[in-house]
Amino acid sequence: MGEGEDKKSAKVVRLPKKRRRSSRCPICGKPATEEGWPFCSTRCANVDLGRWLDGGYRIPTEEAPEEGSPPPPDEE
Ligand SMILES: [Zn+2]
Repeated sequence: MGEGEDKKSAKVVRLPKKRRRSSRCPICGKPATEEGWPFCSTRCANVDLGRWLDGGYRIPTEEAPEEGSPPPPDEE
């Protein structure tokens, strides 16, 4: 007989929080692992460190891209 408001529209659906673990390695793009976080391995971590030491690494001003978005190409 009509229950008034539509419960579906009034119901708030909470989306699960995105875990940063789902990010990808900024070096090679492979899924990051706990061991080498935020890289896929310690190898890529060393590569990133090398970039820092080489002075060719720019400090990102924006947060990591959203999940599902491919990492920006590393080009100058
Ligand atoms: Zn990697």
